[in-house]
Amino acid sequence: MDCPKTMPETAERRKQGAAVRERFVRVREDVAEAALRAGRNPAQVRLMAVTKTVDEWLIREAVEAGTDLLGENKVQEIQRKRGNLPPAEMHLIGHLQRNKAAKAAECADMIQSLDSVALARELSAAGGKLGRTIPVLLEVNIGRDEAKFGFPPEQTAAALEEIMRLPCLSVRGLMTVPPFLADERQTRAFFSQMMQLFIDIRDKTLDNISKEAHAMEVLSMGMSGDYPWAIAEGSTLVRVGTAIFGMRDYR
Ligand SMILES: *Cc1c(COP(=O)(O)O)cnc(C)c1O
Repeated sequence: MDCPKTMPETAERRKQGAAVRERFVRVREDVAEAALRAGRNPAQVRLMAVTKTVDEWLIREAVEAGTDLLGENKVQEIQRKRGNLPPAEMHLIGHLQRNKAAKAAECADMIQSLDSVALARELSAAGGKLGRTIPVLLEVNIGRDEAKFGFPPEQTAAALEEIMRLPCLSVRGLMTVPPFLADERQTRAFFSQMMQLFIDIRDKTLDNISKEAHAMEVLSMGMSGDYPWAIAEGSTLVRVGTAIFGMRDYR
């Protein structure tokens, strides 16, 4: 069994647990309000709780408060935590190395961080061995940020065409993390460019490729610092960590 090193005393734990539940409920309300303000149906925006570095006992509080979608940036964490948590969908949102593709194909419900055609080939092959079609999002490096993974926006459509031809992947949409230090105007411009790319790609007709196999319905963008803007620009899935669990402890 895997015990956290610094399991707090019961009273302290109860307090921290209550804080996570409250913050989750508040973020969920905030997401719905942002959708309404944008003239959108709140049911069209999914809230993911990003649980990287968060202890299982605290994640459990969020799941009990109503979270049904968790995001992790390491495949080992999904593998380790899944068995110890109540049922919830678990998506990989961090860069995946090709040598971990088989493990990811086995234990992630969706891979949001598909960032190369080579990785797509590995994942499809791994899916084939498992008899499973792997749902994926293409990660787009919308800000052309040197420090980030993802397809440059102008290469996304061509990559998508190749990836859609792989037998054991199902492309469900796009994901992005905009540059960290951008202000509101710049960040909204990146989100708006993502929305445009999403629409262009979704409406593209491809020969001999089944549209049902690749239902392009997810535009994953928006984090703690910018999710209301992402929702205003068309996001269908926001990935929120800090605003639910507090500041991360990377010890
Ligand atoms: C950590 C992370 C998030 C959540 O970030 P917060 O600012 O804590 O909400 C969202 N998406 C990705 C890809 C992440 O790595």
